Amino acid sequence: MKISSLLTSPSTTLSFEFFPPKNVTGSSTLFKTIKELIPYKPSFVSVTYGAGGATRHLTHDLVESIHKKTDLNIMAHLTCIGSTKDEIFAILKRYQDIGICNIMALRGDLPKDSSINPFPYGGFRYAGELVQFIKKHFPDFCVGVAGFPEGHPETPNRLKEIDYLKQKIDQGADFICTQLFFNNNDFYDFKERAALNGINCPIVAGIMPIITRSGYIRMADLAGGARYPAKLLKKLIDADDADIHKIGEEWSVTQVTDLIKQKVSGIHLYTLNKSTSSIRVIQQTSLSETLS
Ligand SMILES: Cc1cc2nc3c(=O)[nH]c(=O)nc-3n(C[C@H](O)[C@H](O)[C@H](O)COP(=O)(O)OP(=O)(O)OC[C@H]3O[C@@H](n4cnc5c(N)ncnc54)[C@H](O)[C@@H]3O)c2cc1C
Repeated sequence: MKISSLLTSPSTTLSFEFFPPKNVTGSSTLFKTIKELIPYKPSFVSVTYGAGGATRHLTHDLVESIHKKTDLNIMAHLTCIGSTKDEIFAILKRYQDIGICNIMALRGDLPKDSSINPFPYGGFRYAGELVQFIKKHFPDFCVGVAGFPEGHPETPNRLKEIDYLKQKIDQGADFICTQLFFNNNDFYDFKERAALNGINCPIVAGIMPIITRSGYIRMADLAGGARYPAKLLKKLIDADDADIHKIGEEWSVTQVTDLIKQKVSGIHLYTLNKSTSSIRVIQQTSLSETLS
């Protein structure tokens, strides 16, 4: 089912993000997680894509596998950096053939090594071009694009950034899903700036419950994420592993509760392929009301 239709609902949707595991153990852990999350009736689940790397086929395999084994509504992430138009066409065709109708259209990060040309084939320079390509060749796909409440590091000009986001919507994107954030004010301000620029599509909020110290340190290194509020850092700094888990969950519960109160279109939980924190967040917020 198209995510755009689900996002017309007046209540907040719930969705989960998974990444493709690299080995059999990771795969069985993920399918256990999926089984544990199915009772919470997500509107959709998404599968990330390894930009520019040799792991891309893992995304296609996982999407196919979830599609075969469950009734879940799936969104496949697709990055265009370093790909030819023919390659992208073939991937989209494969998804269309198995009945996937939701694509998260992304550019992908630029290679860290500046001597590598990220656009060797004259393919796609920005995600907006991918959106346009999808809508031209596969008009029935519902397309989501990325938004960055804290800003994307490549565009220090915040006015231009929202102009570029508007371009992606004008090029055909149906909704925006955000990078994870820990301060809801960043999200509300982003949403308001988007609206001022004529962006009226649904914006789904990306929330990641912190699970481990190494995890939140790694997230700080990501493009466009993450800025930890001092109030949160103060709690995390001297905490042991068990406490970090609990602090992470409590912080997400507070964020989600407030977002729902402010009538956010959707909550997208970055699960890190684990179910415990996501389940606790759902159970402690009105996200669980969709179950009754
Ligand atoms: C929800 C979400 C899911 C993600 N999933 C994945 C994933 O599965 N795999 C993965 O590798 N990465 C993923 N990413 C990360 C993403 O690929 C990177 O952050 C990447 O650097 C930017 O991708 P984008 O789609 O926002 O690119 P774009 O929208 O193309 O933007 C890239 C940069 O270029 C600027 N820009 C855009 N259009 C123009 C223009 N016309 N002219 C000049 N500048 C422009 C933007 O402001 C931005 O700074 C995800 C990010 C989010 C928020």
